[in-house]
Amino acid sequence: MKRVLSGNEAFARGAFEAAVKVVSSYPGTPSTEITENIKFYDEIYSEWAPNEKVAFEVALGASLAGKRALTCMKHVGLNVAADPLMTASYTGVNGGMVVIVADDPNMYSSQNEQDSRHYARFAKVPMLEPSDSQEAKDYLIEAFKISEEFCTPVLVRSCTRLSHSKTVVELGERCAEVDLGLENNIPKWVMVPANARKRHIVVEDRLKKLTDFSYSSNLNKIEYKSKNIGIVCSGIVYQYVKEALPDASILKLGMVYPISIDLVKEFSEKVDKLYVVEELDKFIENELKAAGIKVESLNRDVCGELSVEKVRELFGEETVAKEVSQLSLPNRPPNMCPGCSHRGIFYAINRLKLFVVGDIGCYTLGLLPPLSAINSTVCMGASVSMTHGIDKASDGEYTKKVVGVIGDSTFLHTGVNGLMNIIYNKGFSTIIILDNRITGMTGHQPNPATGFTIKGEPAPKIDFEVLVRAMGVKNVYKVDPFNIEECMEVLKREVEKKEPSVIITTRPCIFADRSVISSPFYVDVEKCTGCKACTKIGCPAILWDENKRQAYIDETLCTGCGLCPKVCRFDAIHQRGEK
Ligand code: SF4
Ligand code: SF4
Repeated sequence: MKRVLSGNEAFARGAFEAAVKVVSSYPGTPSTEITENIKFYDEIYSEWAPNEKVAFEVALGASLAGKRALTCMKHVGLNVAADPLMTASYTGVNGGMVVIVADDPNMYSSQNEQDSRHYARFAKVPMLEPSDSQEAKDYLIEAFKISEEFCTPVLVRSCTRLSHSKTVVELGERCAEVDLGLENNIPKWVMVPANARKRHIVVEDRLKKLTDFSYSSNLNKIEYKSKNIGIVCSGIVYQYVKEALPDASILKLGMVYPISIDLVKEFSEKVDKLYVVEELDKFIENELKAAGIKVESLNRDVCGELSVEKVRELFGEETVAKEVSQLSLPNRPPNMCPGCSHRGIFYAINRLKLFVVGDIGCYTLGLLPPLSAINSTVCMGASVSMTHGIDKASDGEYTKKVVGVIGDSTFLHTGVNGLMNIIYNKGFSTIIILDNRITGMTGHQPNPATGFTIKGEPAPKIDFEVLVRAMGVKNVYKVDPFNIEECMEVLKREVEKKEPSVIITTRPCIFADRSVISSPFYVDVEKCTGCKACTKIGCPAILWDENKRQAYIDETLCTGCGLCPKVCRFDAIHQRGEK
């Protein structure tokens, strides 16, 4: 049977057909939908872990128990999981273990544009790179076979374009479940130096065997056409090359690490000029040049995403004029949703002119005008540790002006470790946990504080107040982020304290709990003075009528959160149905 599937849906199907037993992941665009689709297969145990390192280690444990295991993450997530990855390369696996890592060229929703192929070389593990949804499914199944045959974790690389676009996939049956039993092999699994030194030799030997395997593997394909130009490429770039240069000969690498240099040499001898077309870093090109293969230079930018047009331009081909829509569509700048629970606390922070060390999540949108309330964002969990760094670097001088702001999921991801550091090292930082009870940015996945699992089943709930008190924080306060006066009062008091403080906001995301939505608000035109104070909270439902010089509310967008009347000094905003 054939189905049209996105790359992520195809990966999920591949996990099913490969008889994967355990999947543990952390959400991150563009990889999220792999695990979101896996949860529908009852044969597979799936979960959201609090971070990618934990997810990796859960999968490794399942592999040790003799079963096939998968973990999925975005490129920056692999940085978090890099620690166990490096050593899992040494221990190897028992049941097959695969890591799907999804890169984000052009940074559609990421804080950097790193190229995950370097991790394959760094960890000395194989990496496969599919070019469409069919290959996403097939390569994942193949990756498990390679993992078991060569006793190694296998990386499978995706990218935004592959993960989110759809092609036809031939569905297969689920294979028989692998059950190798719990492996009790201390020299292999206990990485004390004496054992690890021996395992390093195994890793180097494995790499040679994988290179030989790559030479004869069906994963790599040569398509001979014109002998003038030969192109080495992989993944989604293969699709661009095929369309842009239909006459070129192509060596498509399904296994991007280790590269079979012998195969590339054979290909290069049959073409006049050899080029490498790849997205982001010159990973393949450098590997080939290091092996002494002559590669023609292309004036290619290592920043951003490739496309058919860009490949045409690289080869001096005529570009096809694009049809540009004549519709003049209004700009829609990114913004927090109407009724978003973060808006009130950011408004209070702004009024106090505090410096905000932000984090990764939808609240990062607080950086945009009119709130303009974020001063830094680096990576998951960094807000907490960076706030402490500012505290220590300024000998406490800046502490009264600075707060760290982090979401519930992100706090559990890696923020919790930063808080331990503050407590242990006698810091004075004030940290605000924006508990909206969901992982908002990636599309509302549950986390250990939401009270339900990936399948929507009830689950124990981490209580932030109990947790941070147990860690040793004495100053813990819960605030309603829409109670601006209370937020300001608590903030003013806590930043002054020469002790760590944690302020927890208590409103759910309006998408996590629709019961908080109530009847909309409206502006009383008789009372509105046009002071514009309500427009400064940045709610997309509040609009400005330039002719009348008055604010008005789009009642179809308003969720009835009740924040705007609190900033109107003229009592001009009221709720429909209010007595
Ligand atoms: S009540 Fe005001 S702030 Fe809340 S959603 Fe409606 S318009 Fe926006
Ligand atoms: S804050 Fe009140 S008075 Fe000022 S523009 Fe908004 S509705 Fe009008």
